Amino acid sequence: MRLDRLNHLPAQLLDIAPREIRRVFPHPTLITVEGRHREPLFLATVLHGNETTSFYVLQDLARRYAHTPPPRSLMIFVGNVDAAEAGVRRLPGQHDFNRIWAGGDGPLFELAQTVLQTARDARPFASIDIHNNTGTNPHYGCVNSMRPAALHLAALFSRIGVYYRNPLTTQSLAFTAFCPAVTIECGRPDDAAGVTQAINLVDAVLHMDHLPERMPAPSDLTLYETVGRVVVDEGRSFSFGDNGTDLALSTELGRMNFSEMPAGAIWGHSLCSRSPLRVYDENDVDLTDQFFSRHDATIQLTRAATPAMITPDLEVIRQDCLCYLMQPLPYPEIVQ
Ligand SMILES: [Zn+2]
Repeated sequence: MRLDRLNHLPAQLLDIAPREIRRVFPHPTLITVEGRHREPLFLATVLHGNETTSFYVLQDLARRYAHTPPPRSLMIFVGNVDAAEAGVRRLPGQHDFNRIWAGGDGPLFELAQTVLQTARDARPFASIDIHNNTGTNPHYGCVNSMRPAALHLAALFSRIGVYYRNPLTTQSLAFTAFCPAVTIECGRPDDAAGVTQAINLVDAVLHMDHLPERMPAPSDLTLYETVGRVVVDEGRSFSFGDNGTDLALSTELGRMNFSEMPAGAIWGHSLCSRSPLRVYDENDVDLTDQFFSRHDATIQLTRAATPAMITPDLEVIRQDCLCYLMQPLPYPEIVQ
């Protein structure tokens, strides 16, 4: 697979819409722009084709730096331009561009390794991967390390952070091996505030001399970790509200992302003998009984839990999951 290289931000970016991106970037592209500080800020953009916030960040950078050097060098990977042209996360048969960063066989994995090696050799100051999600979520940053620099990057973006070490194949996890890295989730693609917040983070990091070496204050960042995925049993029908399906999910759920729900909170109703709402950990161990109980037809929490990434999209729920259950993660005062 072809990787184009550019040493400037094309001003033509300002004249196109997200789905016209291949007029400027016909193939995945690695852009390097020299700035006053040499160690580059690495940006991963358009890894998912329908997540347009990163496209608008590219436009903003082109507006500022097409003709003026940035305060710090930039290295920008523009990923799945074919999916962006089609307006989808990825094309049928394509690998997910955020699951290719831990090696593997095939041209796309080789392309990712080329980008990774080029970035590593440039000793990046930091890495930011820019995404959107489908449900109504607050903006949050994901980190894969407890080191202060990574946590500060996340805290610069939002007071809500998520820590994960699985899946191993994401861009930020691969980059965490050699620089502070964060994945930012900027709300839905049409969320203008998410675009502004992403631009502000990139701008702040471009102007920074160094990232702090102490932990951020706990009031600046609440870090969560995933304890389980909530899914609907295969073969069971479901909907939000009571529509005669096997499982009627509460219509309130969509507004509960990153809010702690108390024990007893109702998630839905079902007359099935086994609850169609299931919780699994990352090893597919069934944790349902730890989180949910049934009282007649009502499915409710047995203990306080914080859901995240609840999607209203029934197709996404069917293919992936309804949401994740999170718990706050204390972070150490000092990490060597
Ligand atoms: Zn994404």
